[in-house]
Amino acid sequence: MRTPLLVANWKLYKNIGEALAYAGALKDALALEEDCLRVEIAVCASHPLLHPLCEAFKGSPVAVGAQNLSEYAEGAYTGAVGINQLTGFGVRYAIIGHSERRSVFRESDEVVAAKLKIVLENGELSPILCVGEPLEVRRDAREFDFVKSQLEKALKDVEPDAAERVAVAYEPIWAIGTGVNAEPKDAEDMAKEIRYWLRDKFGIGAAHSIRILYGGSMNDKNAAELLAQPHIDGGLVGGAALKAESFSVICKAAAS
Ligand code: PEP
Repeated sequence: MRTPLLVANWKLYKNIGEALAYAGALKDALALEEDCLRVEIAVCASHPLLHPLCEAFKGSPVAVGAQNLSEYAEGAYTGAVGINQLTGFGVRYAIIGHSERRSVFRESDEVVAAKLKIVLENGELSPILCVGEPLEVRRDAREFDFVKSQLEKALKDVEPDAAERVAVAYEPIWAIGTGVNAEPKDAEDMAKEIRYWLRDKFGIGAAHSIRILYGGSMNDKNAAELLAQPHIDGGLVGGAALKAESFSVICKAAAS
């Protein structure tokens, strides 16, 4: 049985005061919800907020994750943040290959694969690998091939044992930040296709363990139906996770 994973992606929002106020509000909202112990919850924030958030969420069911990291371990890479700077103080997750990194920052499939490799080799963080097709690809009914090609490129050198630590987030680009979520059936069809691909690549054991999340305009109204799909094991949530109240409703929908 896969434990549902709910991930807030704050993107480039929140200063330190707002981040700490959110941490207090989310802890309060989840405090009396025993059900929430049955789900994993993570807040992924910008790098300067990670240490204070780890402190703020200590002893709560909420973990902290990075939204990005360098493909290099160390060296002359001004402005970069490396894996060794993200470990040792409580960060548990790292988002890799978000479509905004791929499009705005021109991250190639090779860079995404290198980031995944460095996280898996280090072993302390669980990567959340984002895949998803643009609108024109879906209009051409090529979304399965597109996503499988992204998976192949990101996971080609990964061993089954390591693969079990990855969560795959299916995030159709046309649904991110648009207010138009994928129909639950379409999201489920893709999640199932991803699971079959994982089975062929890593074997049945890994395919059963790996969590597949849906992301793209998930909110407190549509979460329950999306999360009820058999192959969808959680959500990656942007806009609706900026308020602790609505993110807590989504977490509770996964727990019930
Ligand atoms: C995201 O940032 O990954 C995302 C899914 O954003 P939103 O929920 O706002 O569509």
